[in-house]
Amino acid sequence: MSDKLDKNCIFCKIIAGEIPSKKIFENDDMLVIEDINPQAKTHFLMLPKWHVADVTELDEQGWTKIAKCLAKVSSLTKEWHLENGFRIVTNKGFDGGQTVGHLHFHILGGEKLSDKMS
Ligand code: AMP
Ligand code: ZN
Repeated sequence: MSDKLDKNCIFCKIIAGEIPSKKIFENDDMLVIEDINPQAKTHFLMLPKWHVADVTELDEQGWTKIAKCLAKVSSLTKEWHLENGFRIVTNKGFDGGQTVGHLHFHILGGEKLSDKMS
């Protein structure tokens, strides 16, 4: 697993502080920001702090870190007033609707979400 950021990647630039974002939470492994184009009343993005293209590109060490990140996000949802429920989504590739090639997890909630998955 590489710890490196990719200088051509928009989310790496956000992590490096080169592009502004609305930070919600940060630790050594992840940054949580507000999505610039929210699809629900609450729409955050959890960005791992190393460049990895998508969920299929994680190695064993990466999966261990992602598990820790998702566990933390799950516990933070109470602070984010999402006790009523939420959805965590990651998109992969063209058919999955991925538009940014840096693994990220959408955290959606704050209202009753559509029963459809897309
Ligand atoms: P995806 O389509 O799953 O790759 O999701 C990419 C998400 O990143 C979209 O929901 C965008 O609205 C969001 N996004 C793109 N650029 C930015 C940015 N500069 N700050 C915050 N969110 C962004
Ligand atoms: Zn990146």
